[in-house]
Amino acid sequence: MNSLKPYKLKAQRGPKNVIFAHLIKSIDELIKLHDKFFRPYLKEAQILEAVQKVATEIANDYKDQVPIFVGVLNGAFMFVSDFLKAYPHPCEVSFVRLSSYQGLTSTGIVETLLDVPENIEGRSIIILEDVIDTGRTLKQLVHLFSQTNAKEFKIASLFYKSEVYNGEYAIDYVGLEIPDAFIVGYGLDYKELGRNLREVYQLNQTNMINLVLFGKPGAGKGTQAGFLKEKYNLKHISTGDVFRYNMKNGTELGKLAKSYIDRGDLVPDEVTIDMLKDEVEKNPDAAGFIFDGFPRTDAQAEALDNFLESKDMQVNATIALEADDDVLVARLLERGKESGRSDDQDEAKIRNRFEEYNHKTAPLKAYYEKQGKFHSVNGIGEIDEITERLAKVIDQLFHNV
Ligand code: AMP
Repeated sequence: MNSLKPYKLKAQRGPKNVIFAHLIKSIDELIKLHDKFFRPYLKEAQILEAVQKVATEIANDYKDQVPIFVGVLNGAFMFVSDFLKAYPHPCEVSFVRLSSYQGLTSTGIVETLLDVPENIEGRSIIILEDVIDTGRTLKQLVHLFSQTNAKEFKIASLFYKSEVYNGEYAIDYVGLEIPDAFIVGYGLDYKELGRNLREVYQLNQTNMINLVLFGKPGAGKGTQAGFLKEKYNLKHISTGDVFRYNMKNGTELGKLAKSYIDRGDLVPDEVTIDMLKDEVEKNPDAAGFIFDGFPRTDAQAEALDNFLESKDMQVNATIALEADDDVLVARLLERGKESGRSDDQDEAKIRNRFEEYNHKTAPLKAYYEKQGKFHSVNGIGEIDEITERLAKVIDQLFHNV
C-alpha cells in the first residue's frame, strides 16, 4: 500500500512544483493532505525536547505521588506515548475522548465518548493535551473533571497558541508556545490525515489577497496603494515605478521602455509581462500583492491570470478608481511640477495616455466583470475618504477567503 506516498509532492512533479519552490524554497518538503499543502514546521527533535521539558517539570512537582495522566484523544496519543517514556517516576495513564456536536458547543453540551477514569478519588489528575488554542475543548475538560472527586487536576499541553487562547484557566505546563497557524502531524490531523507524521507541519497558506488597482493615470492608484499595502500587509508592485527605476539606473529594460514612456505609449506586453513576473517572484513570502498599473491590456490580464494560477494564486478583486478626465489632467500637471516626470508635464502626452487607456485598458473592465471581480470606487474626494471606500471593498474580500 502507498500509505505514505500521498504525502510527498515529489510524486506529482508538474508545473505547480515551480510555484511552491518559490513559496517554501524546497518543494520536496511540502506534503499534501486532502486538498491542502503543508510545510515543515517543527522537527522531531524539537518536539521531543518540548515533551521532555513538560515531563521534567511535572516529574519535579509530582515525584512524591503517583499521578494519573489523562490523554485527550485522538490528538494527544503520540504526545502521551513519548511523554510517558520521558516520565521517570511511577504513574498511571488513562484517556478521555470528547466530541462536541457542531452548533451545540456554545451551550456546553458535550458528548463524552470515553469518560473520565474510574477510581480517581483523592488522586492528582494531569490532563495531557496536544494543543490548546481558543480553549473551548479545555473548558469542556475542566467541566468534566470538576465534577469528580479527584484531589486536583492540572493541565499540560504540548503546544499552546497563546495569541488566541481566551479561556480563564491557567495552563499549568506548556511544551512550546506556537503561533496561530493550522498544524498537523505528531498526532494532530487535518480531516483525520497526518496523525502519523513524526514532525509537525504548518498549513501552507494560499488564501492570499491579490488586488488590481485600476484607473486612469492620475486616479490615485499609487497614493492609495501606499496606504493599502500597510493596512493589509501586501506587497505593492507598480509597473510604472519599476520602469522608472530601471530608466534611472540605465538598465537595458530602462533603455527599452524609455521611448515608449516618453511618448505616453504603453511598453510592449512581452517586456511588461516578464518584468511583472520577476517582481512577483522576488517576493515569495508576500501575503498578497497590489498590482498598480498592471494589467493594462487584454494580453496582460490573461498572462496575469495564467501566471497566478500556476502559483495557486488568483486576482481576488480589481478595483477601479473613477475620476473625470479634466480632474485627472489637472492633478497630473500638478504632480509633474513636483515629480519632474516628463510624461506628467505635457498635456498632449497625458491625453495620449488617456487614449491608450480608453483603447487598451478600459476593456479590461468587462474582462473582470465577467469573472465577478470588478469593483468601482469614487476616486474624487479626500485621500483618506477614498482609502475608506477601498477598504470597504477589501474588507469584504478578507471575510470571504
Ligand atoms: P504609470 O506610472 O503607471 O502611469 O506608468 C507610466 C508609464 O509606464 C506608462 O505610461 C507606460 O508607458 C508604462 N507602463 C506602466 N505600466 C505598464 C503596463 N502595464 N503596460 C505597458 N506599459 C506600462
